[in-house]
Amino acid sequence: MPVVDVPVTLRNVTHWIGGKLVESNSARSGIVWNPATGEEQAIVQFASSEEVDQAVSAAKDAFEGWRATPLSRRAEIMFRSRELIHSNRAKIAELLTAEHGKTLTDAMGEVARGLENIEFACGVPHLLKGGFSEQVSRGVDVYQIRQPLGVVAGITPFNFPAMVPMWMFANAIACGNTFVLKPSEKDPSASLLIAELLQRAGVPDGVFNVVQGDRVAVDRLLEHPDIKAVSFVGSTPVAKLIYETATRHGKRVQALGGAKNHMLVLPDADIGMAADAAVSAGYGSAGERCMAVSVVVAVGNVADPLIDAIQERMARIRVGPGLEEGNEMGPLITREHRDRVASYLDCAASEGATLAVDGRRDQVSKRSGFFLAPSLLDNVKPRMRCYDDEIFGPVLSVVRVESYEEALRIIHDNPYGNGIAIFTRDGGAVRQFQFDVEVGMVGVNVPIPVPMAYYSFGGWKASLFGDLHMYGPEGIQFYTRAKVVTSRWPDPSTSKVDLGFPQAH
Ligand code: NAD
Repeated sequence: MPVVDVPVTLRNVTHWIGGKLVESNSARSGIVWNPATGEEQAIVQFASSEEVDQAVSAAKDAFEGWRATPLSRRAEIMFRSRELIHSNRAKIAELLTAEHGKTLTDAMGEVARGLENIEFACGVPHLLKGGFSEQVSRGVDVYQIRQPLGVVAGITPFNFPAMVPMWMFANAIACGNTFVLKPSEKDPSASLLIAELLQRAGVPDGVFNVVQGDRVAVDRLLEHPDIKAVSFVGSTPVAKLIYETATRHGKRVQALGGAKNHMLVLPDADIGMAADAAVSAGYGSAGERCMAVSVVVAVGNVADPLIDAIQERMARIRVGPGLEEGNEMGPLITREHRDRVASYLDCAASEGATLAVDGRRDQVSKRSGFFLAPSLLDNVKPRMRCYDDEIFGPVLSVVRVESYEEALRIIHDNPYGNGIAIFTRDGGAVRQFQFDVEVGMVGVNVPIPVPMAYYSFGGWKASLFGDLHMYGPEGIQFYTRAKVVTSRWPDPSTSKVDLGFPQAH
């Protein structure tokens, strides 16, 4: 986002450090737009490196006290956090809609899916249980414990300003770490409301901090010697950069990147059900979901009836401001992004695809907000830019193929591997598909297979850099390190000098 001069009358979005709002001394800031009207609604301050240091230092000071806080007490605080966020979910959702543009119903869904992660983290006493082996040798026992890492950072994208931070901080702080969040500068306010709610729930000051900003703040977090681990979610080029930079600075990193999610429709699929799924997952949240379906791969003669059914449903989607009841799809995040997404429609046509539905012709796309009505491309092929690039907007592409094998080849050649769905009634085909496909999250007649909080979320290939997936059991592993203790309690009667290598006997 470009650094801009902003009128002083706009609401100011600032940092949350050591349990309070902290004004920025940095001269740098950005605009938070109202995507539904195209107007400016707030100024977000961009942290300087010194302000990031201040947040890290508050987190470092809080760490020893927090990690020593009894597990049962930490669980109780997580439980209260869950209750407070739940009872304030409408307020959070309103902020999400105001700044991101998604509909209120969608925003409520985002908060609910985020809360699942806090619910999971309430079980931290159980999740941190280690193993114990008695009598590995005479009088010797071995046990493993998991300990927090220290100060950890989270850097999050614009499309889920509440849920993705919850993917990260819930497990991180439950495990005893302290946290510095750098939210997206495009919709930063929900993070401050969440910070306040966590404080009210009993999270001690300094355990959860927020620094607003852009690359300057991120760069400082990546190189800061007191940051032990970095969780990132965003586009693939930035994920790769974050992974390479932070690992070079010795940090543990999980960096989730972009996506190009295919939906494979086999000839025996229920056409109506597949069309419902393609439209819901392609245009929900204006296509700005990392698990959105962006390519329908239609096998054999399923293509024509499927496209007819999709178009019929598209015509009924109600597009408009997310705060207005009844609307099903809101605007895109910025004017610049809307224009970029729309540019793929001309580009696709010039590369030989068929522009089956041009959302730019819809009246809603002419409003002052950042709207683009749902669009559909047919006869798309790999190596067209509309296929190769992550568009991240309400543009659904249809690729026609002759066989399952051809579909699989196309999917395998795609650099991303986040989510995928197969639509069919054939159990054998599904079993083969889940065996074959190189994608991290698979849906069987389910279009957006985001795992529940007690599994873990992560793509393969260019959709994830790092070893561990996010949240769930792998999240607990990511935010802790194992220590193995071998112990003998003195029994002077059996003690002797023995210079041999210790062995079990
Ligand atoms: P983005 O990569 O532009 O930004 C993500 C975060 O990185 C933001 O906080 C931003 O301030 C920061 N950032 C941006 N450029 C940077 C740079 N050069 N150096 C350091 N930090 C930088 O992503 P976005 O546009 O906010 O979000 C959309 C993208 O996120 C899409 O590609 C989407 O697929 C992806 N996403 C992936 C997942 C997943 O789970 N895999 C989930 C949500 C979103």
